[in-house]
Formats: sequence, structure tokens, C-alpha cells
Amino acid sequence: TPEGLRSLLLSRIRDVPDHPRPGVMFKDITPLLADPAAFNALIDALAGLCVRHGADKVVGLEARGFILAAPAAARAGLGFVPVRKAGKLPGQTLGQAYELEYGTAEIEVHQDAFSAGDRVLVIDDVLATGGTAQASLELIRRTGAEVAGVAVLLELGFLGGRARLAPSLAGAPLEAL
Ligand code: AMP
Repeated sequence: TPEGLRSLLLSRIRDVPDHPRPGVMFKDITPLLADPAAFNALIDALAGLCVRHGADKVVGLEARGFILAAPAAARAGLGFVPVRKAGKLPGQTLGQAYELEYGTAEIEVHQDAFSAGDRVLVIDDVLATGGTAQASLELIRRTGAEVAGVAVLLELGFLGGRARLAPSLAGAPLEAL
């Protein structure tokens, strides 16, 4: 059941206070990844969302998004595309800068990663402020692809990421397992 999945997943996420900075409650997914039943249930659920939302390709956001998006894409029979921090991808890239709490960051994707009109589902572990996911959606649209939606394991609702993401989603779903 969705409720059973939800409680299984939540039971395998560990709260680590003051990481990486004082005042941040870090949501550590390594216990979930280490539990084969929970990990498999998560990948099944993410693969199901890929299918339900008609994705053609699956993006993972560096770095923990890779761990979830790659197996979900393979299980759904879809290709995986990494969105990486600037300077890591070897080919021709498109970049998108975005605001952090202190300063800015930039993510990149290979400019030939998608075919025109591809529907792309973005996967990450945690939606916090939504800045990273929002930048990824802008990037995907700039390549000429379409946004099928965003799927995350965990949404930190009190940070308002859903509202921040809404304009970039333009009606596409945000799913938090
Ligand atoms: P944001 O751009 O603020 O939504 O942050 C999202 C990215 O930072 C995700 O890739 C998360 O993996 C990571 N992140 C932000 N806050 C946390 C947190 N409290 N626990 C674990 N990861 C986090």
C-alpha cells in the first residue's frame, strides 16, 4: 500500500543534526540504500512514476539523485541522463546557474542528451528549497525537451520547495514518496 511504502521508507531515513552545517537536519538515506527490501520498493515506486507520467528519459541530480534515478530508469525501460555540477561532463554542455543560501551554483547537462520533444522525469532524493530541481527544469526546457515531472523520495515541506517549483513545473506533477 502507499501508506506501507511511506512508513517503510521513512523508517529507513536517518536524521543527522547539524550536518553539513549547524542548524541543518540532514536526511541520510544510506540506511535505506543498505536495506534491499526498502531500496527495491523505492526503485519500484520510482519506476512506476516514470511509466505513469509518460517519461521518455529519466534525469538524476548529482549526486544522490543518480543512485535512485539510474536503477529506476533501467527498471522502467528508459534511458538515464545525469545532470551534474559544472565542469564534470566531458561533452558540449548547457549550464544553468541558481541561487544558494550563500552564493550561487551551476548545473550542466550534455546538450545532445535529449531528443526534441522527449518527456523528462527528474529524480532526486530530497526536495529542500527546490532551487536545484527548478534549475534542472529550466535546463531541460532549454534543450528543447519537455518536463514530465519531478519525483523525490522526501519533500521537506516547511522549506517551500513545492511553491518555488510550481512555475517551472507548469502543471507537471511533483511526486514525493
Ligand atoms: P534544494 O536545492 O534546496 O532543494 O536542495 C536540494 C539538494 O540538496 C538535494 O540534492 C538534496 O540531496 C540536498 N539537500 C538539501 N537539504 C537536505 C537535507 N536536509 N538533507 C539531505 N539532503 C539535503
